Amino acid sequence: MKLTYILGLGHSGSTFLQLILSRHPNLVGLGEIAMLIDKLKKGTSTADMPLCSCGEKVENCEFWGEILPQIPNNDSVNSYHQVLKLAAEKYPQKTFVDASKTLKGFKTYFTENIPENTRLKVIFLVRDFRSWLLSVHKTRLRKNRNIRGAIFEGYRWLIHNLKIYFFLKKHKISYQIVIYEDLVFQHEKSLNAILGYLGETDFSLNLVSEAHDIYGNRMKNQASKKTGLYYDHSWMQKSRGFWMNLIFVPQYKLMNFLYKKVNT
Ligand SMILES: [Zn+2]
Repeated sequence: MKLTYILGLGHSGSTFLQLILSRHPNLVGLGEIAMLIDKLKKGTSTADMPLCSCGEKVENCEFWGEILPQIPNNDSVNSYHQVLKLAAEKYPQKTFVDASKTLKGFKTYFTENIPENTRLKVIFLVRDFRSWLLSVHKTRLRKNRNIRGAIFEGYRWLIHNLKIYFFLKKHKISYQIVIYEDLVFQHEKSLNAILGYLGETDFSLNLVSEAHDIYGNRMKNQASKKTGLYYDHSWMQKSRGFWMNLIFVPQYKLMNFLYKKVNT
């Protein structure tokens, strides 16, 4: 079975990336499988789950409706591997996209024992930290959560992305860096690079995504209604000032380093 795992911080655009990839005839997005398995383990019933991105209730979804009732809810690793196995049986030719993002989930599901005959590919998704900071800030405002300082968040971004980078390097895992801004502003180039990495030769896309995403962000259910993408540019007009730029030197350095890696 062929699996593509998206690794990255929340707010890096993984739901968007998954939706685009799922428009490829050979790719099917399965949302954040790690989160789904977490919910199963906590006893959430399919009736209490949000709508699937295909527009159906989970029990009526052509993918999860059949598969979820067969997934054990006591052992996360076993559950995860069972999802992959059943998915591959259902669609033998397809590559599945897991937008789980978490490094912890990745370690849990793949470091110890990768299921047999799995071709695992990793997309390391990074969003420019200035745009990321803005997105985190706006989401926390919207959800009435405490706003944490930009320095705290900026270093959370740095540490998390460094952790992912060194983990992939240390374990010699095959990966492709994708910069969210490239995906937005140099869409075709970025997308072709990803499809090439995934071994796809056909670069055509369908109009509609084949994705069965239950726990993605708000965008997941807008696929058919709203195809446009909104990119918040306002961070570009803001000058952070001398001290702020000095404080974020490591973040700029990491961004430059990753950009270079993508373009060489
Ligand atoms: Zn579905």
